[in-house]
Parts: sequence; C-alpha cells; structure tokens
Amino acid sequence: MKRVYSSYNLAAVHHARNVLEAEGIRAVVKNQYLSSGMGDLPPAECQPELWILNDADLWRAEKLLYAPPQAGPEWRCACGESLGGQFTQCWRCEAYRTA
Ligand SMILES: [Zn+2]
Repeated sequence: MKRVYSSYNLAAVHHARNVLEAEGIRAVVKNQYLSSGMGDLPPAECQPELWILNDADLWRAEKLLYAPPQAGPEWRCACGESLGGQFTQCWRCEAYRTA
C-alpha cells in the first residue's frame, strides 16, 4: 500500500480514486470520516488520503494524478483560427494541422 494523494477536499480525493480505478488501478480512500476529529488530532492526520493497493502501480498512479494534460502549445491554422494543442484539425475550416 502506498499513499498517492491527500487533500482536505474529500470530493477531490474521490475524484483521484475514480481516475485511478478507470485505469484499472485499485485504490482506497482512508480517513474519510476522520475530519470530525479535527481539533483533537493533528490536522495532517485528519486529511482524507488515497492509497493504492499494489505498490507496482505507484509510477502509473503518480503519472495519472500529477502529469500535466497531454497538450502542446496552441497553433494557428491557415484560416487564422487559433486552436488548442490537443486538436489536430481545425474546427472552422477542417484543415489538418501541418506543423
Ligand atoms: Zn482553419
């Protein structure tokens, strides 16, 4: 078991778990009911945490959670439209990206 993520935002922790599970990485959320103990326990120990079950998934899990989106710089089509790096085709004139 390895901790891959923690946040005071429980929804964010669950979202991270969904991202991993969608890729076939088994993960569990810990401490999700501990926040009521805030004040009695050190805050860092009350934070919901995401743990992966198989240590071998650690590298993939961190890549999924922390890698920036796979998008290059914006490009400009011959028609003058400016497009995000994730697009390979102009939505305006349907020309394909050349560079
Ligand atoms: Zn275009």
